[in-house]
Amino acid sequence: MQHCIVRLIGGVCLALMLMSAQVRAEDDQPRTAKKQAVVKKKVQKGKAATAKATKATKATKGARKKSSAASEKKPVAKPPKVAEAPAPVSKPMAVVKEFRSWSNPDYTRIAVTLDHEARFEYHQLGQNRETGIPGRLYLDIGNAHVGPGVKDIPIADGLLKTARIGQFRPDTVRVVLDMESIKDYKVFTFSDPYRILIDVRGERRMEISSLRERIESAPSLPPPAKEPAVEKPLRPTVAKAVPVAIGKIRRVVVDPGHGGHDPGAIGAGGTREKDVVLAIGLKLAKRLKEELGLDVVMTRSTDVFLELQERTAIANQVGADLFISVHANAAPNRASAGIETYYLSLAKTEKAAQLAAKENGTSLEKVSLLQAVLFDLMVNYKINDSAHLAEVVQKELHHKVDVQYPVKSLGVKQGPFYVLVGATMPSILVETAFLSNEKEEQRLRDAQYQEMTADGIMEGVRAYIVSQHQQSAYVRQGDTGR
Ligand SMILES: [Zn+2]
Repeated sequence: MQHCIVRLIGGVCLALMLMSAQVRAEDDQPRTAKKQAVVKKKVQKGKAATAKATKATKATKGARKKSSAASEKKPVAKPPKVAEAPAPVSKPMAVVKEFRSWSNPDYTRIAVTLDHEARFEYHQLGQNRETGIPGRLYLDIGNAHVGPGVKDIPIADGLLKTARIGQFRPDTVRVVLDMESIKDYKVFTFSDPYRILIDVRGERRMEISSLRERIESAPSLPPPAKEPAVEKPLRPTVAKAVPVAIGKIRRVVVDPGHGGHDPGAIGAGGTREKDVVLAIGLKLAKRLKEELGLDVVMTRSTDVFLELQERTAIANQVGADLFISVHANAAPNRASAGIETYYLSLAKTEKAAQLAAKENGTSLEKVSLLQAVLFDLMVNYKINDSAHLAEVVQKELHHKVDVQYPVKSLGVKQGPFYVLVGATMPSILVETAFLSNEKEEQRLRDAQYQEMTADGIMEGVRAYIVSQHQQSAYVRQGDTGR
């Protein structure tokens, strides 16, 4: 955790902590609003916007022409709390650069990317029973305008009908989500680049397979790398007679960290993390397919940049059963060496929280706020399975590599890794070795070492699958219906 935080703060590793982004996003809010930010939404929340937007009724006055006045006046929940707006500044207007959506099996994500941070507020409007106008969620972004090429998105995925965006007032961009059957939603932000994300959840009356076609054909998505998942059935039959792949684990997403303009950590010898983890990732994918008969999807199989949330979004979209992010470590202390495996968790101790606060240059209060936000995001996260997966992968990987390349096992650790946030399947992040250590940098460049690392992770996955299978076989024993 310590290395990780240090490294993350240094901006070296892409496995960023949620800390900086979220905390920064909440910076401008007073405490009450902050607290609200972590409460599950059914309620509305105002996010420190223009003073005049204090009331839903008021803010909706000029809503899109199709919105009837009646429905606009009847928001489903209390008016949002709005922060006192600090003195208006002559900040340049934020420009909406991108407007995208991702349909996942159990939620839909909308992302509004701006060129810099902007204030916003959002409201939910219930269905208008008289007119039949469906419910909407809308978000007003102050001091902003819509950039060229940004346009409405037809979605129709069972949760949302459309996502619309427009210049509501000369200085306000409005995003309107026309809802189909959403139960719950969450609004949060990422930074670098600054993005406002809206996740909506609900019961989607749509097959994942047809959803996947839509996903795969969506132009905004990164290419599905070597193995286009759309070609395959949802539960593909295992080609090779590998007895192990008979459990519930069929599809694994391998995520080589970093890529493109983000090199990740760089060793003293110039080795870039993005290159070595891609090499290991490709080898791992091959091993998982050949040895375990698994279906493998790579988040990237070339030197391209992927945003963090795209990585888990891919895993969710293809219905992956496991998510493995591959990284190489770095630490200020060049003597640091070894293998460690992480799974997503909150900082467990006061010490860890203090360290996070210190390294982030923020207060403890903000760290606890972050923890609460993270907790909220982790609702669907398979924490126990992830911990177990991390255990077996760490053990097998260390065991494998240590035979030929004596190495320290740093064990399994927990941390609020950004890249794992939002994953709905067991997911881990493997730090294969330290690029900041001369000897380990040499090893990471070595194709044989890479092969061995891939092999070790594969063995960990095998052990995990076997344990899952044993578990389910045990459960089935009393089941006479089979
Ligand atoms: Zn990394």
